[in-house]
Amino acid sequence: MSRWVKGVRTFSSAASSLLAGATTASQSARQPSSFQVFRDVPPLRQLRRSLLQNDRTVGFVPTMGALHEGHLSLIREAARENTDIFVSIYVNPTRFGVNEDLSSYPRTWDSDVAQLEKLNEELASNPGAGAGRITAIFAPTSKVMYPTLPPSSEIDGHGSFVTITPLSTKLEGSARPVFFRGVATVCMKLFNATTPDRVYFGQKDVQQTVIIKRLVQDFLIGTEVRIVETSRGTDGLALSSRNVYLGERRRAVGLTIYKALKAAEEAYLAGKVSRADILGVAKKVTERVLAEQQALAPSERALFEVDYVSLADPSTLDELDLVDPTHGAVLSAALKMAPLEETKPGEDCGLGDGKVPVRLIDNLILRPS
Ligand code: AMP
Repeated sequence: MSRWVKGVRTFSSAASSLLAGATTASQSARQPSSFQVFRDVPPLRQLRRSLLQNDRTVGFVPTMGALHEGHLSLIREAARENTDIFVSIYVNPTRFGVNEDLSSYPRTWDSDVAQLEKLNEELASNPGAGAGRITAIFAPTSKVMYPTLPPSSEIDGHGSFVTITPLSTKLEGSARPVFFRGVATVCMKLFNATTPDRVYFGQKDVQQTVIIKRLVQDFLIGTEVRIVETSRGTDGLALSSRNVYLGERRRAVGLTIYKALKAAEEAYLAGKVSRADILGVAKKVTERVLAEQQALAPSERALFEVDYVSLADPSTLDELDLVDPTHGAVLSAALKMAPLEETKPGEDCGLGDGKVPVRLIDNLILRPS
């Protein structure tokens, strides 16, 4: 690509050798054409310095890979506001608890790189998309991200961690006590490695957005936090890397999470402000669908458990008894799809043949009126 700024081209050879040092054959086989892949921090910092000296701006999009349209929507937003986009692809072990399956998290390096290349082409061919292009992929090893001690997922494990309390103990944090410690810690590291002008996060993970804003504020980090709305499938289900495990039957039933939230949102938009009135209708939806599923044969049904449905303050995430319409609220839920009990021949059961439990999360913002 001819758009490299002065001094940045010198990274090509370094990036090639970094790429060749990647951990998997598929990672090293491909040489991306329109961006460079960095496995370590110093050459990335060198690129960042060159960009700064040339008055270019960096928008940073952290991901765990297994990219889908939701991730791409963050990058498109970053392209509108920055000249250069850094995307990180790193499955962070410290956000998985000891009993959570880090190994089953989907890893799709070749497809991720292909999607990012295609997106750069799309951005280049669409003048209305903004000037930004993906310049760097940061795909560090865990040794780079956790240089002194192996990453610990134990609650009282040793290591250098960033904890944001009480925010990280609520909602998702109540079932997953180390999750947001892992998120905040890795984001702090990634922000330090990339020093972006702006960072982009999806509304889909609403608690993460609140925690990242707090992290940036409390640690005086010089970056702007941008939140991009949730991308959904045509059926309304929020896109997620884990949806590949659902299959058709569990996907159709999993949609209950969105339907329940929509019903609660409608109640708010119709003027209801009490917790009982807003969450009551969501509960009715989940209870009705669960009863319907339980009445079906094991080969036909998909069972689930509701982890929580929450109505919370947008900045503290404290549960609300009453929504102040001038302030609004966050309506969020988590639902656990159980493995299929019985499958039918030829049925689309998703990756893992319907055996992988899938936890779905979703949220809607009740806007101030
Ligand atoms: P992940 O790879 O799951 O860690 O997600 C990386 C970023 O993409 C996070 O900021 C997520 O909130 C965001 N993201 C994931 N799914 C969606 C979606 N359906 N819509 C918008 N953003 C999303």
